[in-house]
Order: sequence, then C-alpha cells, then structure tokens
Amino acid sequence: MKIGFIGLGIMGSRMAANLQRAGYDLVVQNRTRSRGDALIAGGARWVDTPQAAARGMDVVISMLGDPAVVRSVAAGENGFLHGMEKNALWMDCSTVDPAFSQEMAVLAAKKGVRFVDSPVAGTKQPAESGDLLFLVGGDATDVAQIQPLMDIMGKKTLHLGGHGSGAKMKMLINGLLAQAMLAFSEAVVLGEAMGFGKEMVLDVLTATPVTAPFLSVAEKKLREDNWETNFPLKWMQKDLQLASETAYAHGVAMPSLNTAKEAYALAKRHGFADQDFSAIFAFLRGIEE
Ligand code: NAP
Repeated sequence: MKIGFIGLGIMGSRMAANLQRAGYDLVVQNRTRSRGDALIAGGARWVDTPQAAARGMDVVISMLGDPAVVRSVAAGENGFLHGMEKNALWMDCSTVDPAFSQEMAVLAAKKGVRFVDSPVAGTKQPAESGDLLFLVGGDATDVAQIQPLMDIMGKKTLHLGGHGSGAKMKMLINGLLAQAMLAFSEAVVLGEAMGFGKEMVLDVLTATPVTAPFLSVAEKKLREDNWETNFPLKWMQKDLQLASETAYAHGVAMPSLNTAKEAYALAKRHGFADQDFSAIFAFLRGIEE
C-alpha cells in the first residue's frame, strides 16, 4: 500500500514514524520541512506540495491543525485532492467538526476519492507508542482497507457510523477533557489560595473518585509546573469552539462547555496558545497571584 502522509506536527510525525517502523514506504509533506527530518532520514520521500504527496498513492493520511488548514491543504492551490488517484482513499485524522468531515466526504467523492474521518483520542506519548484510539466514520469497506494502518498507529478502532461519526465522538471526548482540566485547575488554585500546599491538594484530589482518571497523568504537569506541549492549548480551544458551533446547529445548550471555551480563549490570548492545554492551570493561578 502506497501512503502519502501530510501534516507532521506533534501527532502526525509520530504516527508516520510508526508506519515507517512497520515497513511502509512513505511520501511525506508538511508546511515546515524540518518537522519531517527524522522521517526523511529514515527513508521517507519528501515532496514539496500536498498535491505531489498524493500522486500515485493508495491512501493519503492527513493530520492537520483545524478545519481551515485541512480545507486549504486538501483543496487549495496544490492541494492533495487535486493529486489523488481515482478511487484512492483519504483518511483524515485531524480533529474537525462533523459537518466539516461530511463536507469533505462530498468534496472527495466529487473527485472520485473515498473518505474516512478517523480522529484519534490519545496524545503525544500514545502517538509515539502506537496506542491511539481511532474514532472512525465512513463505509465499512473503506475502514477495512485502512484497518492495518490503524492497528499499527493505535491500540483500538471504533467504527461509529457513516462520514462524520468519528468527528462527532471526538468532539464529545474533548469537551469533557477540557472541562475536567479546567475544573480541576480551579480547585487546585482555590486550595492554594486557602493555604494548602499544592502537593497536598494534588495528593488528596487525585485520590478521590471525583477526579477524572486522566488527571492522574495530567496532574504531574501541575506538580512540576511543566507545560511542555503534548496537546497545544490553542487546539483544545479550537475543539471547544467547534463543539459550540455544532451544539448551536443542533439546538443544544452547553453552558458549561461554552464557559470553558472562553477560559481557554483567554489563556490563548495571554500567551499560552502553544503550551500544553494543562497550562490553563498556570493561566488561572497567574490571574489569582
Ligand atoms: P501541531 O503539532 O500544531 O501540528 C499541526 C499540523 O498542522 C502541522 O503539520 C502544521 O504544520 C499544520 N499546519 C498548521 N497550520 C497550517 C497552515 N496554515 N498551513 C499548512 N499547515 C498547517 O498539532 P498536533 O498536536 O499534531 O495536532 C494535529 C491535529 O491533531 C489537530 O487537529 C489536533 O486537534 C489533533 N489532536 C492532537 C492531539 C495532541 O495531543 N497533540 C491529540 C489528538 C488530536 P507546521 O509543522 O508547518 O506548523
């Protein structure tokens, strides 16, 4: 299977590396070439445009920032959809909203290209170790074709329905993730303000069932004031924005998610955009100090 991999950021570079380690020959492309250096050193073929990365490929995998970026890299000038072969498959792993995925499926079909939305749950470390969870929307035969790839990059695949279904479920997961991180951060900031040491607050809260399980990992970052980026805060804020718009389209009220969205938007405006999303704690504590 010939694979073009486009988008070599925190996640894409690691996912592509796992495919390379498993023996796949990759053609790679990214806006910033240096992010592909390790893959190129490992034998991947670099091309200068997304369109060139798609030519002659059976599957094109994209792992890009947000819907606007996906649209321009896929369908803009030198976009990969212009280079894809008839009946080839586009697997979009980027986190986007379901309506956008459905639109991309239609756009791809007009070019004779098959489409699967396959966003992932899991961050930098699971991407590196091949332990991602794939949330997939598309036709069963198309999903079956890329299953071997997902088995290499991930530990589990959930095929949730037609186009956009993966994006729908991913939206629910990240909404909860963002709110749990924010609520936990608020509690720690208040604990400190009342005179407890941070260590004590973290020890006690993480030992209680009210703390979300993922926080037993994330709390290490709070403990060490280490905001090295696993998941950029700006992308979390994007996910909340997309969820808010999707909720509006469905006539659903999400008061808590929308409040969280604005907290992350403020943090983004105050210099935390490229830090880990857990830096929402540093932002809140900064306000209080
Ligand atoms: P990242 O390191 O910021 O990578 C973003 C990718 O998008 C890079 O390839 C970047 O190219 C490209 N890009 C951004 N703006 C662009 C533009 N204007 N034109 C062309 N390319 C552009 O982020 P990431 O963490 O890998 O995230 C990628 C996607 O996965 C996002 O949708 C994110 O929400 C999702 N996701 C992330 C995580 C995580 O924990 N990090 C987990 C699950 C899902 P450059 O290298 O040139 O900047």
